[in-house]
Amino acid sequence: MKIESLDLPDDVIRFYLDSGIEELYPPQAEAIEKGLIEGNNLLAAIPTASGKTLLAELAMLKAISKGGKALYIVPLRALASEKFDRFRSFSSVSVKPGENRGLRVGISTGDFESRDEWLGSNDIIVATSEKTDSLLRNETSWMQEITTIVVDEVHLLDSANRGPTLEVTLTKLMKLNPNCQIIALSATVGNAYEVADWLKAKLVLSEWRPTSLREGVYYGGNINFHGSQKLIDPRTNDDAVNILLDTLEEGGQCLVFESSRKNSVSFAKRAGAKVSETLDKLTRNALDELVEQIIENGETEAANELAKCVRNGTAFHHAGLNSAHRRIVEDGFRSNKIKVISSTPTLAAGLNLPARRVIIRSYRRYDPNYGMQPIPVLDYKQMAGRAGRPHLDPYGESVLIAKSYDEMAGLFDNYIDSDAEDIWSKLGSENALRTHILSTIVNGFATTRDGLLEFIEATFFAHQNDTWGIMDVVDECLDFLRDNKMLEGDEALLPTALGRLVSTLYIDPLSGAYMVDGLKKIKNPTTIGLLHLICKTPDMRQLYLRSNESEIINDIVMAHSDEFVEIPPRSKEMEYEWFLAEVKTALLLQDWVDEKPLDPITEKFNVGEGDVHAFADIAEWLMHSMSRLAGLIAPEMSTDVSNQTALLEKRIHYGASPELIELVSIRGIGRVRARKLYDNGIKTTDSIKEAGLERVSELIGPKTALKLFNEIGLHLDIRSEEPGKVNSQTMSSL
Ligand code: ADP
Repeated sequence: MKIESLDLPDDVIRFYLDSGIEELYPPQAEAIEKGLIEGNNLLAAIPTASGKTLLAELAMLKAISKGGKALYIVPLRALASEKFDRFRSFSSVSVKPGENRGLRVGISTGDFESRDEWLGSNDIIVATSEKTDSLLRNETSWMQEITTIVVDEVHLLDSANRGPTLEVTLTKLMKLNPNCQIIALSATVGNAYEVADWLKAKLVLSEWRPTSLREGVYYGGNINFHGSQKLIDPRTNDDAVNILLDTLEEGGQCLVFESSRKNSVSFAKRAGAKVSETLDKLTRNALDELVEQIIENGETEAANELAKCVRNGTAFHHAGLNSAHRRIVEDGFRSNKIKVISSTPTLAAGLNLPARRVIIRSYRRYDPNYGMQPIPVLDYKQMAGRAGRPHLDPYGESVLIAKSYDEMAGLFDNYIDSDAEDIWSKLGSENALRTHILSTIVNGFATTRDGLLEFIEATFFAHQNDTWGIMDVVDECLDFLRDNKMLEGDEALLPTALGRLVSTLYIDPLSGAYMVDGLKKIKNPTTIGLLHLICKTPDMRQLYLRSNESEIINDIVMAHSDEFVEIPPRSKEMEYEWFLAEVKTALLLQDWVDEKPLDPITEKFNVGEGDVHAFADIAEWLMHSMSRLAGLIAPEMSTDVSNQTALLEKRIHYGASPELIELVSIRGIGRVRARKLYDNGIKTTDSIKEAGLERVSELIGPKTALKLFNEIGLHLDIRSEEPGKVNSQTMSSL
């Protein structure tokens, strides 16, 4: 089917023809035949790189040409940026009726307690599912104008963490805009028809791929495929390294999936020695540039470790990396400078980073409850599906590694020849339901218990299960909300001011209840006590407590015992251990706000730089929430902690002590440079002006100094003879 034959505005057709897309891929053509452009709901369950995004684009562009607006929901922030960048290329496409302008695209991933009304002027808005949920809770007005919803990675309905939010958000959106077109994009899962049925969508189910995929298992010196073998030269005693070298020899790149971060780092290091021997001069120079960028963007030993690997043409990639490093690694791989990335499975979950060969070094993963467990077929397919770059590789290959013939046979049976599992709603538990029941009531989607039942009947959970069982859980949630004064009434369910606030803050009501209780009880509010209060909530990610840490943390608790709201008795062992883990998490945050450098923090807590930022992000949101709750319940508190929580929120944001807040609040000044200025007597905006550009340049470097002066309203006109050196004589103050 030709792009030109589609009922789309000329500008759209031209856009695609100019980008070299003339013919639709078979699954895309099937989607058109099933009414994609006429506005039918559609679920496309097809492999990665088979053109799902383009399919969604066609529906969105058609809708916009008829005056509509599209919302594109993704599971991860990184994916939101990727899609946002892609859709920005429509800025030259003019399809809006009566308006002679290109398409406007917005992205919404930030603060939870905001409406982002300003985004409403866009034609396409990209948002994570959590952010979409929070926009609905905050009753953002443009939500009602949405005519097309795209849900990327809809199979994540099955995820215990994120599935319930996605499910409830979709249910709300369908209630809010019943005539909205829904395009759901999914990996191939066992029961795609069931999801399609729930969404009242036509199903496009296909295994078609633009680049063929050969799935094999390495055993006995060969990669064994169905019906063929590929001999691998045993150059080293590491099978995966040998497979990698073979790929490079064929001109390809490799993605290696490991079961843990530690293994992904050690593979990148190990492979580096051999890969570096294969690099030409040009690539070496290009890699040296990447190394510089990595060092510039890193404060920790991990940056040096990564730099060492990248110099050799290898890299590791996991959630412990900071976001700049992740981007450098991804871009370096896309531009074929980095030859191999060894990664935890995070990379398979969404980023568009295909490679000629994918090596799955471990098909087992650690589960805290059950130890090492084989991964689901769906995860295997997601990883294997990364093999083969469309238009660049003649084919893609995925390789599992077996140690025995029997293991190989098992891998063929259980993965290569198996279909992905069915997906199941995870909405049925109290933990999943509590928050969504509150928001459903607050936003008026249900105002009585019967109304709630009706709402639940519309979820994917009810589509798959009888609902009689779930009403017990719903009643437990309602009791909890009433007991904690978030809800009133038996017949009519009325949210209280507290309930409304908890819902818009986007925190679990259990977190809200802990915070309110703690704020009322706290007598001696200190940094560690307040940090612990947020670390106790189910919304906080928890650090793992090692057995040899219990005593050290216990000593800290004893030394500060009057600062914690409540300490469980030591006799309740499990509870006490859990408490110590919460304190450990609070101690990490305390180091962060006390300006401890990242390197010792990462070492002490055995985490990556990216983790510290992730902890700080969640903590900032929770401290903000606690600050807002403190404002609401002020009369009931024995001590006014509002100022303290508000200051702590800022300190968590910047990772800085109170005295630095004025300086770090100036854009472009991080905590390290701010500290340098402060320790040299430059403590306020006024004192920056007094000190002058020359002095400030000496302390924090000329480039940053210039930015800083511009930021505080002193616009500079620099005509320095030597590049990089600024001359205060040329400064003109406005
Ligand atoms: P998915 O979202 O399924 O991973 P994408 O839509 O991102 O896949 O498509 C993968 C690549 O294939 C993109 O570079 C896209 O431009 C290209 N592509 C998609 N459809 C076509 C087509 N019909 N013809 C040629 N290239 C296409």
